[in-house]
Amino acid sequence: MCEFCLQHGEGKKWYLQAKNYADDLLSDLSRRRFIKNFLADPDALAREVRDIERLNKMPGFIRDLVSRLITRKMKKIHFGQIVPIEEIEQIFGFVQTIVRVACICRQANLGQEKRYCYGVSLAPNGGRFAQILQDLDESFLTGPNLPGMEVLSPEEALAAFKSHELEGLCHSVWTFHTPFIGGICNCDRSDCMAMQCTVTQGIPVMFRGEYVAQVDPDLCVGCRDCLRFCQFGALAYSAANQKAVVDQRWCYGCGVCRSTCKKAAIHLKERRAVPVAANLW
Ligand code: SF4
Ligand code: SF4
Repeated sequence: MCEFCLQHGEGKKWYLQAKNYADDLLSDLSRRRFIKNFLADPDALAREVRDIERLNKMPGFIRDLVSRLITRKMKKIHFGQIVPIEEIEQIFGFVQTIVRVACICRQANLGQEKRYCYGVSLAPNGGRFAQILQDLDESFLTGPNLPGMEVLSPEEALAAFKSHELEGLCHSVWTFHTPFIGGICNCDRSDCMAMQCTVTQGIPVMFRGEYVAQVDPDLCVGCRDCLRFCQFGALAYSAANQKAVVDQRWCYGCGVCRSTCKKAAIHLKERRAVPVAANLW
């Protein structure tokens, strides 16, 4: 069980607790202001990542200290955690509104609107979160043929997430002034700044999920299709056994590798049941 479950979920999975999506949390003006500023300025995010990259040129002890401070700050204001699709489906089962919006990372990195991010709310019609989104510049949130926000049913949203998995994207919930969860993203390492910060720079702002993957050697035929789907470098091919293998120390438990395995040879196990990964987040 991760620290977020202990702090915000009373020992249960914190991102499955409806209270962490409650519209009431958006009566906090500082939280509303944070969301608005965050979404309105993709370039600020890109500048932050460039600043983080500059850290590599600093002496090791300074880099370590600054890294720890960044992680501590982000846990309070805006962090992500990997969630497999079964639990995304559970979240879609209790929220009232799901809207699809442009991804701020891709907007900053590619200068293009890519609709991989989803706002979720317990309130009908998106509640206060939708009001904040509607106040933003329309050119960022809408496509040329799509006036207004794109509201999806739970079934439509789940189908979209399945298709994102087939593109190799993994799902993550995001806080806006923790513990409020306002968004679910579909991330890859080439475009997601949080993944770059976490995986490439080694400064965690996106945390491992509650699971780790395991390959069943009796089912695996060694086709290697799954290898290119792992964004975290956890999957490898064992030439000796002619099977795929998971290094569970590196596995984030996204479960995306499962979507490409035609033999259904990959399963997720509870992280706490896997000693080598139980305390890695
Ligand atoms: S895709 Fe499935 S069968 Fe192919 S190597 Fe990976 S685990 Fe084995
Ligand atoms: S091995 Fe782990 S991190 Fe890699 S794709 Fe599979 S579940 Fe995700």
